[in-house]
Amino acid sequence: TTYVFAFTEGDKDQKDLLGGKGANLAEMMKLGIPVPPGFTITTEACRAYLAKGAAPETLEVQVTTALRQMESEMGKRLGDPVNPLLLSVRSGAKFSMPGMMETVLNIGLNDDTVEGLATRSGNPRFAWDSYRRLIQMFGKTVQDIEGDHFSDALEAAKDKRGLTLDTELDVDALKDLVDDYKQIVERETGAPFPQDPREQMDAAIEAVFRSWNTDRAKIYRRRERIPHDLGTAVNVQAMVFGNMGDRSGTGVCFTRDPSTGHTGVYGDYLVNAQGEDVVAGIRNTLSLDALAELDRKSYDELMENLRVLETHYRDMCDIEFTVEEGKLWLLQTRVGKRTASAAFRIARQLVDERLITRDEAIGRVNGEQLTQLLFPQFDDEADKVTLTKGMAASPGASVGEIVFNNAQAVERTNAGADVILVRRETNPDDLEGMVVASGILTARGGKTSHAAVVARGMGRCCVVGAEELYVDESSQTVTIRGSDVILKAGDIIAIDGTSGYVYKGDVPVVPSPVSIYIEEGLEAGLAAAQDEPTKDLVASVDLLLQHADSRARLTVRANAEAPEDVIRARKFGATGIGLCRTEHMFLGDRRQLIEQVILAENEEEQQAAFDVLGPLQKGDFVEILRAMDGLPTTIRLVDPPLHEFLPDLTDLSVRIAVKEALGENVPDKERKLFKAVREMHEQNPMLGLRGVRLGLKIRGLFAMQITAIAEAAADLIEQGGDPKPEIMVPLVGSVRELQIIRGDAEEIIAEIEKSRGVTLDIEIGAMIELPRAAITADSLTEESDFFSFGTNDLTQTAWGFSRDDVEAEFFNEYFDLGVFGVSPFESIDVRGVGKLVAIGMRNARSVKPDIKVGVCGEHGGDPQSIHFFHEVGLDYVSCSPFRVPVARLEAGRAAV
Ligand code: ADP
Ligand code: MG
Ligand code: MG
Repeated sequence: TTYVFAFTEGDKDQKDLLGGKGANLAEMMKLGIPVPPGFTITTEACRAYLAKGAAPETLEVQVTTALRQMESEMGKRLGDPVNPLLLSVRSGAKFSMPGMMETVLNIGLNDDTVEGLATRSGNPRFAWDSYRRLIQMFGKTVQDIEGDHFSDALEAAKDKRGLTLDTELDVDALKDLVDDYKQIVERETGAPFPQDPREQMDAAIEAVFRSWNTDRAKIYRRRERIPHDLGTAVNVQAMVFGNMGDRSGTGVCFTRDPSTGHTGVYGDYLVNAQGEDVVAGIRNTLSLDALAELDRKSYDELMENLRVLETHYRDMCDIEFTVEEGKLWLLQTRVGKRTASAAFRIARQLVDERLITRDEAIGRVNGEQLTQLLFPQFDDEADKVTLTKGMAASPGASVGEIVFNNAQAVERTNAGADVILVRRETNPDDLEGMVVASGILTARGGKTSHAAVVARGMGRCCVVGAEELYVDESSQTVTIRGSDVILKAGDIIAIDGTSGYVYKGDVPVVPSPVSIYIEEGLEAGLAAAQDEPTKDLVASVDLLLQHADSRARLTVRANAEAPEDVIRARKFGATGIGLCRTEHMFLGDRRQLIEQVILAENEEEQQAAFDVLGPLQKGDFVEILRAMDGLPTTIRLVDPPLHEFLPDLTDLSVRIAVKEALGENVPDKERKLFKAVREMHEQNPMLGLRGVRLGLKIRGLFAMQITAIAEAAADLIEQGGDPKPEIMVPLVGSVRELQIIRGDAEEIIAEIEKSRGVTLDIEIGAMIELPRAAITADSLTEESDFFSFGTNDLTQTAWGFSRDDVEAEFFNEYFDLGVFGVSPFESIDVRGVGKLVAIGMRNARSVKPDIKVGVCGEHGGDPQSIHFFHEVGLDYVSCSPFRVPVARLEAGRAAV
């Protein structure tokens, strides 16, 4: 097996094997962009390492060959005391995982080669700075030494000399620091810092492999639904140096602003720096304009390369670059992560620039991003106490208690509080706190800092670089420089990730212009937008959503029963109701009538209760059908077990026992009720007397509902309306069940048509939520006008998971064990439950080729599931009203 590929051998489509970074480095090579030479060790090698705990032996040999090739190319050798080749060892998985896997730079330096580098470069300060960085990175990443040991020693070195910046340390100071670092390594590991360059390299490669399975990496993958078995590639690359002095530096930039989507490059540059300095907020960075003044040639070349990359990838790219004594090198590129609003705006810009088609444009945004744009924002009109302003790094409006670290963030969140994680700057160790926080605020760093990148990736509201803040974790306070404001842990602040403002106390929020657009149309949305970028955003969402609608084959319905939800769903663009539950029509005062049904001693008494319930339900149906006039409305007959409407068995027995103990009189009715509830008690109510089973046991129950639906439709037709009710029978397992209910229904409907003198066109269909129903869908089809997959119950019955219990109980272990990466209740289990859907479809369409089929579980609003339903050939998905815009977008995306 080939485990090693030179950068000259790969291309951007080999992300599976070479990881994103490796594939893109190879692509840049192909484009003739200046990239230091190197090679990529494949993800396959990583998987082999993780499986066996050791690298395949041939890997070593292949690495040697690739390394020698590099040495000839560079005219330097690893470990050569006169002219040493230095290397970076970098991780790079298929999906970028910002800050997850550490990079080790300057590999190849030791007590001898550092002298060679010093002489050869004529810059001893640079050589010793590189050496101390190597020990620090190697110690932290490869040897798992607590990073604070090194940063404390660095601080001490500066303090001792009264310096503030790392760059002010001179050669002698750096030599001392190297000694200190070596002592730290020896103290912490019991062995001296490894002097053999090849040993350094091999250890670093292994450390990258291992880093795939750190907790941090696992948390990130779980969140992002990245499979745990992909492994990471390793890139070994010749070093170029941004820390050679004032004509050198390192930077990060985007071809467009990743946070707002503004056109024009955006970036940060740091003079005389290396690696992560620029994102770590160690010193304040320069803008690209400042770079232009400092080094016009490198700037121009950078701009040219950015244009080449944007044209080539036809998307916004992010780039990491280094200038070594006036020579520009690109070290990384990828299609850049961006905020939701930037995603929509950039997609529309690229359409306008004729760089991408509209079909491609809807592929550049997704439902999750649209969801974020629907979040409320701070009310401009509200009184606010401004504390300070930082950089808007990731949009949103977030109010919460100040917390300073992971432990506090988790503790307060578990206690139900919203928290804002406030830090000087963040690093990968802060991920846990960032995940639970509703907002993130840092004092240092730019829009490309760790906090900003990670927050954008998670869609978390974030403000960075609020430089007036002095964050002191040890005293648990934040002070605002130049003022006497002191904030403590637990104090409430509000941060605006769109403007960068930080406010004291609670600030009220208002609907976002995008949500106003969704609900009330383009004009209202534009009117609600208060500035040009926001207007541009609303127009971009409109363009893409319209295009998605025009391409979608799946239509989108809503699951709704409350009239206000039905109305909202329609405004959000639902083309019908896919699931109108009727359970709520038995609650409140109507509970008594259900009790009466259950306690009835004969059919007359039961019917008397139905006679009161029927007209009430009819009133409900009239309202719903009126709101959905002209659009199909699938009404599900009552589904839960009847005892759900009755008092709890334990409550009742306690109540009676107490009365008896006090010698009070227990009414007859209460005793009867208790007896009935006890008799109806089921061990597994979800597998018990519910749905169609209940309808067959108490025939009058469904009959009452069907009558109410038909009467409601007749009323509306008389009023000139166009009601389109569809009756859905839940939990069907056998065609016989459906046949009986259908027979009853047809009789009732025919009778009402006759008595009211109207024609009712009411479809009757089955909800498919049992494996047996899917498997026998061909015979069910004979009695069905339509089907709807109830994927919540279908998941429950296919897996045998009690959906009310398992998620809390053991799913976390199942994630860790790799049984699944995401809950099957959240995203359809394509292989199992999905297969049942596919089988059901095939069976149904074999009998009636154009039978209408939809889905009405939670999955109907889940992007990944929607793509699956599209592929299987469903006609519609139905989801909660708020998910409708998301589902519309995803239905369009699935179709292109
Ligand atoms: P990440 O995935 O965290 O971005 P990288 O592998 O890109 O990690 O490395 C981080 C930084 O290290 C880069 O942005 C770059 O500044 C520096 N770096 C990596 N490789 C080299 C190299 N060959 N020469 C100089 N600097 C490098
Ligand atoms: Mg990094
Ligand atoms: Mg990088």
